[in-house]
Formats: sequence, structure tokens, C-alpha cells
Amino acid sequence: MIRRREVELAKGEAIALLSRVSIALTQIEIQRMEVVDFGLSDLANCGVQIVPVVETGNIAVRLLVLTPHQTEPEHRHPALGQSRGKEEVIRCEWGELYLYGPGNPTFNPKGRPPLARRATYTVWHEHILHPGGQVAFQPNTPHWFQAGPGGAVIWSFSTKALDLADEFTDPDIVRCTVIVDDGHE
Ligand code: ZN
Repeated sequence: MIRRREVELAKGEAIALLSRVSIALTQIEIQRMEVVDFGLSDLANCGVQIVPVVETGNIAVRLLVLTPHQTEPEHRHPALGQSRGKEEVIRCEWGELYLYGPGNPTFNPKGRPPLARRATYTVWHEHILHPGGQVAFQPNTPHWFQAGPGGAVIWSFSTKALDLADEFTDPDIVRCTVIVDDGHE
């Protein structure tokens, strides 16, 4: 659960980060930005700001904006119905991204999930992405990522996105963000 004020602050931070890249975005696309807290009510540490750019029945292109050290928690995109699950390419546009997937665990990784939730991060093979760097994940492959100290602007290119079907390793996570008006619980 996050407050409306937090959402507006996060959007402001994301817009400031987006101003550092020259990507043509319409006002409507910026207005569609989604602030996601994964139900953890700890947006500064666990969350992401998503700008949907292309969404058809088959493909999705999004800009993901992460504030400094903000983490998108470990998740997979499983098969659902006719879909074999979302295949996704994460590509860094601006900043530095610590991205993790299956493989040999990296010794002394740069990414630091919140300590209390560290047990819910199971893949530790590190890819450090700078602008132009990218990594592809097949459907149902666990992955997570964290921005470096200046934040990050990254692309997610994928097959059809079914966000509510995403499976998170952390059982406390719910993909649907609840926003409450300021002054109410
Ligand atoms: Zn993903």
C-alpha cells in the first residue's frame, strides 16, 4: 500500500531520470506511468516505475525507471493458457543496473536486496549493465534487478506481458499496487 503523495513523488523522480535520456515520449505515455510497490509498502527499496510504450496482443515495450538502489524483486514469467510465458530482454538505457539470473553465483555481488527479504532472492549470477548492455531471459526464468547509486532507466522488450500472472519468489508480494489517498489508512 502506498499513499497518493508517494506515488506523485515517485513519478516526479522518474520523470527527472527520464529527462536524462533522449527518448521521445508523449505526455500520454508519461501520464500512463505505473508506480509499483509489489505490495511491500517500501517503495524506495522495492518498487519500479513503468512507462508502457508499446502493447499489442503479442509484444510489449516498456521503459522501467528505478530510483537509486531501488529493486525489482525476483520473479518469473510462467506459462499461462496459450502463452508459454513472457520472454523478456532487459536493456540498459541510462545509469547502472545490477541484474541477476540463474548461473554461478557471483562472489560479492553489487546488488543488495533489503536484508529482511534476502532469503527470497535465489539467483545470484550477476550482469552489470551500462547503457547498451542487455540480457535476455527465456520464459519462467527467475530474475531480479537493482539500480546503481544514480538510478537507472532500462527497457523491457518482451512477448505479451501478463503482469498479474508473474510469480514472485517472495510470498509477501502482490503485483497489484494499492494506492490510498493521503490522510486515510
Ligand atoms: Zn521480468
